[in-house]
Amino acid sequence: MFERYVVTPDKLFDLNKIDSGFTEDFKSKKDVEEEFHRLRKRLCELQDVLYAEGKRKILIVLQGMDTAGKDGTIKHVFKEVHLQGIKVVSFKKPTEEELSHDFLWRVHKHTPGKGEIAVFNRSHYEDVLVVRVHRLVPEKVWMKRYEHIRNFEKMLFDEGTTILKFYLHISKEEQKKRLLERLNNPRKRWKLHVEDVKERKHWDEYIRAYNDAIFETSTIYAPWFVIPSDKKWFRNYLVAKIIVKKLESLNMKYPEPEKGIENLKID
Ligand code: AMP
Ligand code: MG
Repeated sequence: MFERYVVTPDKLFDLNKIDSGFTEDFKSKKDVEEEFHRLRKRLCELQDVLYAEGKRKILIVLQGMDTAGKDGTIKHVFKEVHLQGIKVVSFKKPTEEELSHDFLWRVHKHTPGKGEIAVFNRSHYEDVLVVRVHRLVPEKVWMKRYEHIRNFEKMLFDEGTTILKFYLHISKEEQKKRLLERLNNPRKRWKLHVEDVKERKHWDEYIRAYNDAIFETSTIYAPWFVIPSDKKWFRNYLVAKIIVKKLESLNMKYPEPEKGIENLKID
């Protein structure tokens, strides 16, 4: 169903060839609004069973260039989900302590427990993206990380974690528009950093790094989805739809009521 968006393992692909403005047959936000609300409600129901059942763990990874909409996706898609059982973790520049350990150390402790959804705003992938682009470690170190990531995610999967990874795909022009919007809107200005504008100069290197990272780590057990994200409404709709479909396929059930409950008298 999502063949168009999922990155097939071992098949070469190039982000430069994927249209970030694609919106299927939808023309505007109005066209998906109703369905998006339904998906959001459905996500709440599914999260409720997930929590009650207390068996499965869900890990959602969000990556993308600055302004691609990682924060916005979290805000809109998970708006109605009960706070119990969901956690959002943002990965920033590593601290001294984090840097003194292996790159997965800080990530592993935030992976979801049973009945939980963890949403990663940036993730262990930064260690083959920003780290590569800015040469923070030698190539022979980051090169090996693809394999470490595959093994790490396989281990999480084998231990009961469902993993979905989303690359929010925007064009360089769309980024310019959004950076300008941040600059010109007093309520958005806090989000703009001098660094973001500098990072933009490395756009092509980032795309190369993303191309390799996604190609190397899209697997059956932890697939990457490339989400056309120039239109925020389409991005939100599509991410919600993929998550709902995946959760539905898990056939989760509320646990059986405790024995003896049928004879209980509550007075
Ligand atoms: P933001 O997501 O806008 O709050 O910014 C977080 C910043 O932390 C981004 O510039 C990331 O590239 C940076 N960052 C996240 N993880 C790492 C990492 N492992 N190494 C270096 N920088 C990182
Ligand atoms: Mg930022």
